[in-house]
Amino acid sequence: MAREPVEMMVESVTLEVPDSKTIQLKWPEGYDPEFKTGQFVTAYWPDEPDYKRAYSLSSCALDRGAYEFTVRRSGKMGTRLVDWIKVGHRLMVLPPAGKFLPVYEPEMHLICAAGGSGVTPFRGFVREATKRGLSTRITILYSVRTPEDIIFNKEFNELSDQNPNFEFHVTCTRAAADDPWPGRKGRIDADWVRAHVGNLEKTVFYACGPTELVEMVENIVVAEMSVPKAQMRTEKWG
Ligand SMILES: Cc1cc2nc3c(=O)[nH]c(=O)nc-3n(C[C@H](O)[C@H](O)[C@H](O)COP(=O)(O)OP(=O)(O)OC[C@H]3O[C@@H](n4cnc5c(N)ncnc54)[C@H](O)[C@@H]3O)c2cc1C
Repeated sequence: MAREPVEMMVESVTLEVPDSKTIQLKWPEGYDPEFKTGQFVTAYWPDEPDYKRAYSLSSCALDRGAYEFTVRRSGKMGTRLVDWIKVGHRLMVLPPAGKFLPVYEPEMHLICAAGGSGVTPFRGFVREATKRGLSTRITILYSVRTPEDIIFNKEFNELSDQNPNFEFHVTCTRAAADDPWPGRKGRIDADWVRAHVGNLEKTVFYACGPTELVEMVENIVVAEMSVPKAQMRTEKWG
């Protein structure tokens, strides 16, 4: 696919959690790209053509007519997008790229670890698997600070009701002692990851988000659990 930028209009902006928004970009007439779930687009404001940033698609390849990505307020581009973007604004978008792709094989189990906004490409993974009725197992292990920071909480819970092969698990690192959060507390660790592994040989581990979190998960899976690196896929956001 040619790496030509395409101008797209913002069709909707959704506040997901206090610091993150999902931006939906309508495809122009006649635009019908081939791409894969898990890829990222590169976006820039028409008035700042030299300041381009990558955003993982939070929609999947079966969602046609628009791209969706979900941005956290962080740094220059993240802040400008979250605080200033409005329906009707225009962004320039380079076509999807990247190799952070779900391995949709029937016997496979994808264990997807994420921190904060890093969960967003996994929505695409689960949406596609659910729409296609795939038997590939997907387990999301998601680390957030507090229960209010869980992005796509409602949708992930609905998808786990619809898809018997999908599980959504959250751990809160900073839930207050008196927080009624009934789930797990603390960081992602080897015991938590191990508890979700069935057939290790048929498991592919994914980690996405800030580099520090991704390297922590890589260390758990590859160093502590002695899983071959070939069974690990990472997307580091910097
Ligand atoms: C493949 C890929 C996919 C990505 N997908 C997503 C995605 O889906 N969603 C998403 O939100 N991001 C994603 N990112 C990150 C995104 O591309 C931007 O880097 C991010 O929005 C920050 O914008 P910036 O680079 O302009 O920040 P810059 O201003 O260049 O800052 C870079 C980093 O420095 C830190 N920083 C900047 N200013 C300050 C400050 N004043 N105080 C403290 N720290 C500061 C921030 O943590 C920031 O992330 C992705 C990155 C990659 C490589």
